[in-house]
Order: sequence, then structure tokens, then C-alpha cells
Amino acid sequence: MRFYFHLFYAMLSCINKIYQSVETMRFNKNKYLKDMEQTDVERIRSEQISIAFRQAFASIFPLFLGALIISILYWDTSLSPYVNVWFVVINITLIWRLWLLIQHKKHPKKYSDLVWEYYFKVVMYISALLWGLSAFFLFQSDDITDQFAIIFIISGISSVASGTLASMFGLSVVFLSFLIAPLFMVMVLHGGLEYQMMGFLVAAYYILLVNASRRIHLNILSALKSKILHEKAAEALALSEEQFETIFKEAPAGIFYYNKDLIVIESNVEMMQILQITRDEMIGLDLKKLPDRSLYDAIFEPISGNKGYYEGSYVTMIHNLQLWITLRTSPIYNAKREIIGGVALVTDITERIQAEEKIKHQAYYDALTDIPNRILLKDRLAQSLAHYRRSKNIVAVMFLDLDHFKSINDSLGHHVGDALLIETAKRLKKICREGDTVSRLGGDEFVILLNELGNDPHIAATKVESVAEKIHEALGSAFDVGLSDTITTSSSIGIAMVTSEIQTADDLLKFADTAMYQAKKEGRNTTRFYQEKMDQWIKHRLFLENALRHAIKNNELELYYQPVIEIATKRIIGAEALLRWNHPELGIVMPDEMITIAEESGLIVPIGEWVLREACRQFVSWRAKNLSQTHIDRIAVNVSAIQFKQNNFVDNVIRIVAETGIMPSMLELELTESTVIDKLDTVIEKMNRLRAAGINLSMDDFGTGYSSLAYLKKLPFTTLKIDRSFVRDIMSDEDDAALVETILSMASIFKFDVIAEGVETIEQFKFLEDHGCQYFQGYLCSKPVQVKYFEELLTHDVQKCTTQSAKNSLQRTSALSI
Ligand code: C2E
Ligand code: MG
Ligand code: MG
Repeated sequence: MRFYFHLFYAMLSCINKIYQSVETMRFNKNKYLKDMEQTDVERIRSEQISIAFRQAFASIFPLFLGALIISILYWDTSLSPYVNVWFVVINITLIWRLWLLIQHKKHPKKYSDLVWEYYFKVVMYISALLWGLSAFFLFQSDDITDQFAIIFIISGISSVASGTLASMFGLSVVFLSFLIAPLFMVMVLHGGLEYQMMGFLVAAYYILLVNASRRIHLNILSALKSKILHEKAAEALALSEEQFETIFKEAPAGIFYYNKDLIVIESNVEMMQILQITRDEMIGLDLKKLPDRSLYDAIFEPISGNKGYYEGSYVTMIHNLQLWITLRTSPIYNAKREIIGGVALVTDITERIQAEEKIKHQAYYDALTDIPNRILLKDRLAQSLAHYRRSKNIVAVMFLDLDHFKSINDSLGHHVGDALLIETAKRLKKICREGDTVSRLGGDEFVILLNELGNDPHIAATKVESVAEKIHEALGSAFDVGLSDTITTSSSIGIAMVTSEIQTADDLLKFADTAMYQAKKEGRNTTRFYQEKMDQWIKHRLFLENALRHAIKNNELELYYQPVIEIATKRIIGAEALLRWNHPELGIVMPDEMITIAEESGLIVPIGEWVLREACRQFVSWRAKNLSQTHIDRIAVNVSAIQFKQNNFVDNVIRIVAETGIMPSMLELELTESTVIDKLDTVIEKMNRLRAAGINLSMDDFGTGYSSLAYLKKLPFTTLKIDRSFVRDIMSDEDDAALVETILSMASIFKFDVIAEGVETIEQFKFLEDHGCQYFQGYLCSKPVQVKYFEELLTHDVQKCTTQSAKNSLQRTSALSI
């Protein structure tokens, strides 16, 4: 008996081991599971265990019945105590099994699958073993029916187990082995030939059952795999549906579907927001009725199976909104691949287009006045010139510069300057035709491009001139720039007309600029057409600039002096030093021509210093000579704005005063308005230092600028010099006479000395005398003259200038002067 047990035990553990590994191998290499993910394989395993647990319920009662029958049949045999024990143990196992199954059913998550599997296996192995042991009772009864009962029950259990445990094939094989092996051994080792043969039949039966179990197992696996794959597909579908739903709802683009009749069937919120309409308005919208046909084609494309695309402007159907959109359309198919409509994806690119437009606008338009800038002007001019080359239709370029703009900007502030420029641009645009271009190059420079002037140069010139006239008129009327008073301005216009096919945009702009320069030079508020000789004039300017660089060291500069006469005594009491340049080839060059060049090239600084030193030196020398006990006690020197702005200007003046030994109170520096209008604090500080040094300061050309007397009162001037343009017309122009009168009376209140410039006639002299003017300068007495002639003048009886013989005197002095 012990031998049997040992043999049996060894066999069974061997079987168990083999089948354990077979099962693992089968599981891992199973063709059904080969291409599946690990998690899915685990799920299948878990399902297999659950199936085994579920199936195990049904056999509990038959097993109990089987055990009862066997114990009844064999209770009075020689193994009766074993039978009773066996019966009890079998029932304990059944109860344990029932408990385990119930536990698993109620709390499947209580243990991991591995643990459940382990418990299940233990119960099943024990139960298989116990049932297998029943085979040892076989030959305890000679009754064939009793023997048949055992064989029948074991075969029944094994055939049921091969099905119910097939989900866990390894378990099923071990179970069948435990169950059948003892019966086989008992029959082969213990029985007669018939039993031995039956034993082999049992073995064959075992093989059949294992095979059947394997097939069932594979079917289960396949079913489980299909189930899992189906579940996964369903999950994936649900996920993709959800994702699609999210994309449809949340996409930063408008999406809508429409059917073959082009009726909208679904739309996302973004789409409705783009069109600014409600869902009710959107769904059912008939796209055939689109008033804007521009995108109709793109919407219709999907119906014929193609993709559609549109990018451009679109006016919406309901609210007439002007939008910029991109629209992409694709067909929608049903399951049979038939087209059932289209889907459209719409992006609103209005903001992007507007931003691009804005950037483009900024690149081509002037920020302040919103008219074309230099780039756009040049582009249009190039186009006009190309057109001219084809059609000979003349083009003209007008270069316009506001007179005195800098003074207005500096004295009244940039906001006034800006307002003036904006208003100027408006007025210019009003005058010009639509095909013309009014542009601003910067500062106060405007350029107007006039097109379509016809083929006749004379007629074209007349047309352009009339435009220039209109411009002068328009810019001459008062500007309201938000100040209490309106301001007036004027403009200088240079015009260049295309005359040859080879002229470029740059050429015409340069010509017009040159002409404008000429207009400015010739007295502002004028128009000049470009002529070849202007170009020569520019070249001449360059030549002068170069020559001027050598003028000081070549001793080419000279000072002329113009007497200043005291009206009350009719005596020469002073002189104004005026610069002349004796050019070896050009002869005498006058200040009007040379000062601007000197200022623009910076040469005015050394030249100004030379003038000051020379004038002081000359004056000191006159005083030393004490010419005919004259009353000359002041010398006036002109100072340019550029010179005055130099940081060391005051120091230089004081140094020169000291070096030449002139009494500071006898030196008078003449400043113009443009010198004192900018950076008032620094100007006052410099002026105060000069005044503190005893030097006098006069305001030259008074009346030509914008400053009022009240403004000048803030500045420490001692003298005002009324500009000769007012004096010239005092006898003929009532306005000028009134102005001079006002200046004189205001000056007396503010205690300024007044010198009238440019007095040429006795009448002018009388007028000034009658109205309390203290001093004058002018041809009536003398033009500016060289030193020796001035000295002669000093020794003359100046009174003559103002008497009946003035004419003679004038002639005489004129002869002495330039
Ligand atoms: P300004 O300082 O107003 O000088 C007076 C100008 O008027 C002088 O012209 C003088 O010749 C002219 N003039 C004087 N009386 C009469 C008259 O009765 N009738 C007419 N028609 N003209 C008269 P000029 O010498 O050609 O000087 C022109 C301007 O050049 C000066 O105007 C002054 O602003 C500037 N200038 C002259 N010399 C210098 C200088 O050394 N330095 C600087 N910075 N500027 C100078
Ligand atoms: Mg002067
Ligand atoms: Mg003057």
C-alpha cells in the first residue's frame, strides 16, 4: 500500500510539474495570444480563472452524491474505515470548495488572480486526488456493479471536468491525471487481463478527454480574445467619437456640415461666432443662396467628390459682415462610400489680414499725416515715369517746404507744428486730383506727384503752375491749430517736369528739391520750375563752400562798415560791421550768398570769430586815432545762430574783448530771432553772461519772425533793429507804417533803443524822427563801405545826409560803397 502511495505521489508530482510548464508554455506561445498586448493577455487569464470558478459550482452536488454512493457501496468492505475517512474528507473538500467559490463570487477583488488561481488549484488538486483515491476501493468488492459504480463515477467526473476546467488547460490536465491515474494503475497492476485491458481503455479515454479539453480550451481562448478585441474596438470607437466631438467643439476654427442640397446640418459654436449668428440661424442655412458667390465653388466641390479651397474676403449672409476667411471643404461619405454632403473648415483671418494691412500701411504711409511716405511716392513716381515712357503723358514733381516751419515748431511747440503739418496735408489733398500723390518726406517737406498732364510741355507747365498757385493760396490762409490765435504760413515750391525718358524718380526729386531751394533763396512764398542752370547753381555752391574753407588764411575776408546815425543829433554814433569776401576769381561775394554756406558747413564759427576780432580791433584803432573828435562809441557785430549755440561762445567773446582791449559797453552783438527762439533757458543764461560782461545785445531784423515784443521783454536785449522790409514801405503801406509806429511806442515803454534799418529816403527819415525813433542805418547816409571810406565819412558833416543835399550825399557815399 505504501509502495502505491509513493509511486502514485511521485507520478502525480511529475505530472503536475510537466503540465504546469506545458500550461505556461502554451499560454505564452499560444497562437491566439501571440500578437496581443501583455495587459490583454492578463485580462484573458483573469477571465479564464473566472470561468473556471463559475463552472465549478454545478458539480458540487453531483460530487457529493457520487461520494455518498461510493461510501454506501463500500462501507462494509475491509477498507471501510478508510472509506469513511475518505467520505468525510471529500465532503470537507466540497465544503471548502463551495466556500471558496462563494468567496470568489462575492469578493472577486479580495485577492489577485494569481492567489485565486492558486487556491482554486489546491482545492481542485486535492479533490482530484481524493476522487482518484477512490480507485483503490475498486477491488474491495467483488460485485461488478460496485466496481462499475466507481468506474462510472470517475469517468463521469473526468468527462465533466475536461469541459468545466478546460478554461485552465493545465489544471484540467492535472485534474484528469490525478483522477484517472490511480484507476489506471489499480486496473493494470491489480486486475486480471480484462481489467488490464480496461485499464488501457481508461488511459485511452484519458487521452481523449485531454484532447477534448484542449479543444474546448482553445475555443474559450479564441472567444475570450474576440471578446477583448471587440471591447477594445468599442473602447477605441468611443474614444475616437469623444475625441472627434471635442475637436468639433473646441477646434479654433469654424466647422460645419452640409448635405448634398447645400443645407447646413451641423455646426460648431466657433463657426456661429465667426458669422455672429445663432444656432437656429445656422442650422438649415441654404448655402445655395449665398449672396457672395466668391466661395460658392469651394463649397460645391465636395458634392462632385473633390476638395475645395477659398481664401479671401467674404460678406456674411445675415449680418453683412466684411470678413477675411480661409475655407477648406471635403466630401462626406456614407458606409457605402456614397457622397452625402460636405464638411467645411473655416478660419477667420480678418485680424491677421488687418494687421498685415496695417503693417503695409505703416511702411508706406506717414504716421503723422497719414499720407504716402517717401517709399510709396518713389514707387508711384517710378510707375508714372514708366507710363510716361509709353504714352508721353507728362509727369511733374512738386517739392514743397513750409517757410519758417522751424521757428513755429520751436517757439509754439511741437504739437502746434504737428497740427500745422496735418492741416497742410489735408489742404494739399483737397487741391490735388485723385490720381495725384501727396506725400510727406519728413519734417515740413511735402512732395506732390502730378500725373496725366498731357503731352504738351507748355500746357502741362501751366496746369502745374495753377496747382502751385492754389497751394500758395490754400496754405496762405490762417491755420487754426488749437491756439487762441490762428497762425499763418507760406510755402516755397520747386517743380520739376519730366523732359526725357532716361530721367529717374531720384532725378526728378533732386531737380524739384533744387528748384525749391532756389524758391526759398529768392524770397520764400514762391514757386520755381527746375532749370538746368539751377543745377549749375548747386555746383557753384559746392565750389564756394570749398573756396570759403581757405578764405581766412588767404586773407580774402574783409569787413565793411555801415554808419549808425543818431536821429536827434544827426551824427554817426556807431557802425555795423558787415562781411565781404574778396574772391580772386568771383570778385566780391556778399553775405547773403556766403553766410548760409558758412553756416551749413560749420565754417561760420571760425569766420564769426575772425569778424568779431577784426571789428573790435578796428574800432579800438579808430578810438585811438580819435578821428575828428567823432562821437562813435559803438560797433555792432552780427552773430549767427550756429555761432551763438557753441558752448564756448560767451567765453570766446569775452576773451576777444579782453585781447583787443575794446570797452565791452561799446560792443553790440546783433542776434536774430532764430538765435533766441530755441532752448530759451540756455539762451537767457548766455545773454545774461554777456550783459554782465557789459556787452550790449540787439535784436536784428525785428518783425520778420514770430516773436512778440512781450516775448522779447523776457530777454536782456538793449536794442531793437526794425527790419528794412518794414521801413521800405512805411510811406506807401499803411500797415507797415502802423506796425513801425507800434514797435516804436512799445519799445519806448519797454525801454529798448530802436534802430531803423534800410532808411533810404528823407521821407522815411522824417517819419521815423516824428515817431520817436532814436537811430537809423541806411543808404540815405551810406551803404556799408571799406574802412578808409568809413573813416572819411566820419570826418564829414553827416548832417548833410538828412538835408536837401541828401541826394548828393547819397550819390557820393554810394560811390564809395559797393
Ligand atoms: P543785417 O545785419 O540786417 O545787415 C543789414 C543789411 O542791410 C546789409 O546787407 C546792408 O548792406 C543792407 N542795407 C543797409 N542799409 C540799406 C538800405 O538803405 N537799403 C538796402 N536795400 N539795404 C540796406 P549785407 O551787408 O548784404 O548783409 C546782409 C546780412 O548778412 C546782414 O543783415 C546780416 O544778417 C548778415 N551778415 C553780414 N555780415 C555778417 C557777419 O559778419 N556775420 C554774420 N553772422 N552775418 C552777417
Ligand atoms: Mg545786422
Ligand atoms: Mg538787419
